[in-house]
Amino acid sequence: MNDDAMIPAARPLIGDEEREAVDRVLRSGMVAQGPEVAAFEQEFSAELAGSRECVAVNSGTSGQHLGMLAAGLRPGDEVIVPSFTFAATANAVAVSGATPVFVDVDPETFCMDPAALEAAITERTVGIQPVHLYGHPAPMDAIVAIAERHGLWIAEDAAQAHGATWQGRQVGTFGVFGMFSLYPTKNMTSGEGGMVACEDHELARRVRLLRNQGMEVQYANEVAGFNNRMTDIHAAIGRVQLTKLAGWTAQRQANAAFFDVNLRGVVTPMVRADATHVYHQYTIRVEGATAAERDAFAAALREEHKVGCGVYYPTPVHRLPSYGLDLDLPVTETLAREVLALPVHPSLTETDRERIVEAVNTVAKAGA
Ligand SMILES: *Cc1c(COP(=O)(O)O)cnc(C)c1O
Repeated sequence: MNDDAMIPAARPLIGDEEREAVDRVLRSGMVAQGPEVAAFEQEFSAELAGSRECVAVNSGTSGQHLGMLAAGLRPGDEVIVPSFTFAATANAVAVSGATPVFVDVDPETFCMDPAALEAAITERTVGIQPVHLYGHPAPMDAIVAIAERHGLWIAEDAAQAHGATWQGRQVGTFGVFGMFSLYPTKNMTSGEGGMVACEDHELARRVRLLRNQGMEVQYANEVAGFNNRMTDIHAAIGRVQLTKLAGWTAQRQANAAFFDVNLRGVVTPMVRADATHVYHQYTIRVEGATAAERDAFAAALREEHKVGCGVYYPTPVHRLPSYGLDLDLPVTETLAREVLALPVHPSLTETDRERIVEAVNTVAKAGA
């Protein structure tokens, strides 16, 4: 039994600069979408989106939803998504009256398998939504080649992958748009929020219209839209976080490198030669485990060693009650039983890292 304090699985870092930025907006008396949002879009574009035009919205999910509507998604269309992801990836398709078509993932990187993707294309397929899961990029060269061959658009779910690159290019800049989430547990936050990095100005304009009731000019609504605006309060937080992200990412990578070298008896995450991984999660596999065995592993880490951890995701999206599909996606099913995410956030101390290694190695040995 370890008497030290619990090491949390995730910890949003919000400091004095964020508080001062919020205070500045509150004192201005103008809190809805305004100059802070515009500045945040510009800064995010330069830092994380290869200077693509960025549009800020009130959540990552809204960003996916509006981006796909702007790309032309219509009821009855099919969009291919991995099943091993957060439900939001598929929800943004389903709430548009379109059908998410679930495919399997690569067992090493946990990202969409290009062969499975190509096999799932039908005459109703209009788009592909790869997920850069846990901060590891999906194999974008292969996915782009398939999309071009079949005339499909790509919507990147980069919710977990701010700053990750594939063949030297930032994720979120391969598709017609890339969506980044700014939820508190993500690599950076605005409280709640999302950013849509758009391929061209016309797509960005359509996302802006849909974000704001279909208006570019006040009360001259061009299309039916939503209110999915970001507030200046949230943008002010996001702008500060953006200046800290590179340092945090380097810390996540250093934590991951320490785990890679020191963990025993579990499968550590792999990084493709073409990729830089930004470790939104550091996800190990308890190889050959049943879900109950993996859950017991997690319980031992938490209860005996006070090491927080999480399972992302225990149920493949196609099996959730909201979809209820009985598909044969063997890699997804195996990963849902075996994965376990360890704390990798930038506020871990050296002692925390050593405690995590000691705890995992002890539990793995006991179970072997
Ligand atoms: C967080 C997340 C989303 C949704 O982002 P929100 O900002 O929470 O709406 C979508 N996809 C993935 C993979 C995520 O992790």
